[in-house]
Order: sequence, then structure tokens, then C-alpha cells
Amino acid sequence: MINSNLLTTDNWRPITGKSCASSSYLGSHIPTVGGVAKAIDRGADIGCTAMQIFVKNNMQWLAKPFSDEEVKAFTQHPLRSKLKVVIAHAGYLINLGVEKSENHEKSLQSLGEELVRCDQLEIPCLVLHPGSHLGAGVEKGLHCVIQSLDTIHAEHPSIKTRIALETTAGQGSCLGARFEELAEILAGVKAPDRLRICLDTAHVFAAGYDLSEKNGAQKVFKQFDNIVGLQHLCALHINESKAALGSRVDRHENLGQGKIGLDAFRWVMNASKLATIPKILETPKGKDLAEDVAAMKLLRSFVKKNSQG
Ligand SMILES: [Zn+2]
Ligand SMILES: [Zn+2]
Repeated sequence: MINSNLLTTDNWRPITGKSCASSSYLGSHIPTVGGVAKAIDRGADIGCTAMQIFVKNNMQWLAKPFSDEEVKAFTQHPLRSKLKVVIAHAGYLINLGVEKSENHEKSLQSLGEELVRCDQLEIPCLVLHPGSHLGAGVEKGLHCVIQSLDTIHAEHPSIKTRIALETTAGQGSCLGARFEELAEILAGVKAPDRLRICLDTAHVFAAGYDLSEKNGAQKVFKQFDNIVGLQHLCALHINESKAALGSRVDRHENLGQGKIGLDAFRWVMNASKLATIPKILETPKGKDLAEDVAAMKLLRSFVKKNSQG
């Protein structure tokens, strides 16, 4: 079964080839109000075939452990198989970029807890912003991120869930805006096979990678492949950017209303190299998720019979 295949994190690699399954790994960030299992109902209801969730309140350090019932309600949900893959996004308080601070200790604890929760829910990857150096400088910050990831991996040796470092817009002192920085982290950690990368289209655009120019997406993904390696990519965040190219401002916008333009998303949906990479919308939406439904419809309409890429 393809579903269980994708949940085996050791096999968590993009499959390259002729397959044109982009529309089969498409979804959005789904609220978990009422419990994590409720997200499956919501995601399946709006036609997601992939989704992203928070495994605890994203603005708090810690959470009450899941009960066995909560875990079972999620992993054995009758609609679970409608979703080919479920990924998670880590909480926003976590910062691995500054050592010897109270928040660093809390960050390690919080991230460890999130990994355990993801593992319990059989979630293959946990998207994490690499961190902020808060004035100490990029190199010092990257060094601290590398050491922190090594610590986390050593403390949780048997966890299958992989941390997926997300490309960032580079706002303030956020690390991860340059592909080189992500490559440096991958090269620096003791267990690079335990790391993955998540590329956010709005973030890379704001960071200066021009997805809006002619063949822009093709060029940016080629650059990503050369510097980081597409084999590390485990998820895409499909977001438009309200902020300008190179502005380093992180503002998501709905598709068709931002500065990137639809051509980049059309290319992404047809790139055979990206066909089995989950594509997750993190764009503005109301409670009924109508904007997600419209965006998924638009993205699916882009898929041509013969993919390129
Ligand atoms: Zn993110
Ligand atoms: Zn994102």
C-alpha cells in the first residue's frame, strides 16, 4: 500500500520518474480544534490527499501527553487512508539558534516532545524553522543549530519522524534563507539521514529567489538541487507572497493574489521530480476552509497529462 510506504520514514524520498501524481499529494494546513483526529475529518472533507497539522498548541512550549485513545483515534481513523501523507509543523517558540539560554533548553525539550508526539501519530516529518541567531551572527547561529540537532537526535535515537528544516524568508535574524545555510546544516550534523528539507515558495521568494521571472520556478528548483539536493526534499509549502522579492518579509497570500504569479505554481504541479512531494497550502483562510478548496481546485486544474520537469 502506497500509504504505509510513505509512512516508513526510511523510504522518505521523492520518487523521480514519469509519474504525474502531483494532484494526489495536495492539501493544506488543517486546524486540530477538538483533537488531532478531527483534522483528518476536516482534511478528508475538503478533498485533501495530504495535510499538515500542529501536534500541540504552536504557541506553547509543552503539552499534556496524548492518551492512547487520542493516538488510536488518529492512526486508526476510518478516513486516514484518504490522506496519502500527513506531516506536522513544529511550534513557533522553538529556537535552536542561540545556545546557553533558558529558551534553548526549553526549545530542546519542546522539540523532543513534538518528535515523540509525531512518532506516536506515525507522522514521517516535522517541519521546523532552523532558528534565529538573535544578533550572534549567521555562522554562530548555524553552529548552534547543528549542535542542537545532534543533541535532539542523540536523545531520541529510535524515533522515526524526521525533522524537516524549512527554508525561511530571512526575516530579522532567521537562519535558513539561503540554500547554502541549509546545506551547511545538513553537512554539519552527525546524522544527516535523519534530516529533511521543506521548501516554502513564499519564503524563498521573499529571501530573493525569483520564482516570478520566466522559467523562474525551474531555475530556483535547479539551484536548490545543486546546493541542497532534491533528494532531501520531503515537503513543499505552496504559498503566494504578499511581500516583494528579496524583501525578507514573511507574508503569505492566496494564490493568484501575490507577487509570485501562477506560472511558478503551474510548473511545480507538473514537475515530475516533485510529483510525490506533499504540497501544502498555508495561505489565508476562513473557518470553512473555502479558500483551500478553491486553491486546490486551481492547482489540480494546472496538471497536464504529460508532466515535465
Ligand atoms: Zn513554517
Ligand atoms: Zn511554510
